[in-house]
Amino acid sequence: MSGRFNAVVLGAGLAGLAAAYTLSKSRRRVAVIEKEPRVGGLSKTVVHRGFRFDLGGHRFFTKNQEIGDLVIRLLDGELVLARRNSKIFMKGRYFDYPLRPLNALLGLGVCESARILLDYSRERLRPRRNPVSLEDWVVANFGRELFNIFFKEYSEKVWGISCDRISAEWVAQRIRGLSLSVAIKDALLKLNRRHRPPTLIREFLYPEKGIGRIAERLAEEVSPNPVLLGFSVCGIRHSGGRIQSVTARNCDSEITVEADSYISSIPLPRLVKMLSPPPPEEVLRAAERLRFRDTVIVAIMVNRPRVTRLSWIYLPEKKVPFGRVHEPNNWSESMSPRGKTSLVAEYFCFSGERLWSMSAGELAQLTVEHLESLGFLREDEVIDSRVVRVPNAYPLLEVGYRRHYEVILDYLSRFENLQLVGRTGMFRYHNMDHAMETGIKAARNLMGERHNLLEVNCAAEYIEEVR
Ligand SMILES: Cc1cc2nc3c(=O)[nH]c(=O)nc-3n(C[C@H](O)[C@H](O)[C@H](O)COP(=O)(O)OP(=O)(O)OC[C@H]3O[C@@H](n4cnc5c(N)ncnc54)[C@H](O)[C@@H]3O)c2cc1C
Repeated sequence: MSGRFNAVVLGAGLAGLAAAYTLSKSRRRVAVIEKEPRVGGLSKTVVHRGFRFDLGGHRFFTKNQEIGDLVIRLLDGELVLARRNSKIFMKGRYFDYPLRPLNALLGLGVCESARILLDYSRERLRPRRNPVSLEDWVVANFGRELFNIFFKEYSEKVWGISCDRISAEWVAQRIRGLSLSVAIKDALLKLNRRHRPPTLIREFLYPEKGIGRIAERLAEEVSPNPVLLGFSVCGIRHSGGRIQSVTARNCDSEITVEADSYISSIPLPRLVKMLSPPPPEEVLRAAERLRFRDTVIVAIMVNRPRVTRLSWIYLPEKKVPFGRVHEPNNWSESMSPRGKTSLVAEYFCFSGERLWSMSAGELAQLTVEHLESLGFLREDEVIDSRVVRVPNAYPLLEVGYRRHYEVILDYLSRFENLQLVGRTGMFRYHNMDHAMETGIKAARNLMGERHNLLEVNCAAEYIEEVR
């Protein structure tokens, strides 16, 4: 790889690839550097002896017409229509997901429901103050009873810290504008409507061969510009308020690449630590304080055509060690060989924990035992398994994280030719479409447009609602 590039993109997830794609289409010389042997990052699809699975089922959904059209064009002829049918499984019963309070109240019985409604009314009468934590936010909008039943255990399982330490910013980003009274009003209105309009909420388009196809197609279109796989960025040299070069290495060589501009989608705290000369102590300390939650994905292959009809099953109870399961066959029948299926369990943990370092065999055994006791399969039906450890899956928005975050952003803003994009790169709870949007806008900034990437994914509305 020789010569100077217009831009170097760090990381070949959807954000980095969308940036490189946009630059390539405008005939810019761009290079992408990715540490993994495959593109896609968190949105890749793993292929294992004829089975395919995402790192936790990925549903592409967007309100951004341009990004929706781009994905449809890239995957022309490869999309299938999948039914969205997700449930929460707890107390031996299924509840709707996203939680529909009317369904929850009916499922919990008269006494429990009366307690929930009474408790919620009490909460509404209290003076309102700005919620600081996830717990404050949910209790204010749904009442403490509903919080204890549906939110507390699951959130603590996902995040590994108690709900009063998880920033309200996270939940507000996910379920803006929703509360028990709004949900009940909505549900009653729907009961009155004879024909419900079809919404993307119930059906969605999914790539026949898994979500990873979006990244693969983007990477194809970046060509002939290079997408360097298996090279981990390890150094970023700067001087005079500009990034001068990045250095990356694989197992037997090291390369240094120079460009006019740099777009980074690699984890924000890692980027800070790679800068040379290093940032001030205060910035390095702030980077230490930003944490990600990691996940371990365990796919269990089953000798049966189908186990459930569900897209995702949420398992809030702590006695089940994983938090969510999906069956890729229900997303696309091409995800398993004919007559077989798979169940994919998501464990949430921190990379230093015991769960992270358990052997693949132990993890498969643990998963099968619990799937069997939940009634999903019998051990003698299991034909194979595969474990994938996924670092940096969820930016952990702890109460007070913003202070540290702003110290970092403030320091990095002095580099006039560096832009941060994507979920891990910006330390924001972005979905796929947001990640792509930041990449596309960063690329356009290099062509003279002016986009503030921090404004992506800030709209004040319930994130998944489509009317
Ligand atoms: C379990 C789970 C389920 C999800 N489900 C959905 C869903 O249903 N719908 C949805 O829209 N979104 C979903 N998401 C979010 C979605 O996965 C992300 O928004 C999207 O993939 C982020 O893309 P990105 O490019 O910003 O980041 P990433 O995918 O994290 O890309 C960053 C890339 O940088 C690379 N990298 C890291 N360090 C280095 C280095 N030193 N040198 C070179 N390369 C490096 C990484 O390997 C990676 O490829 C889900 C996420 C998770 C974890």
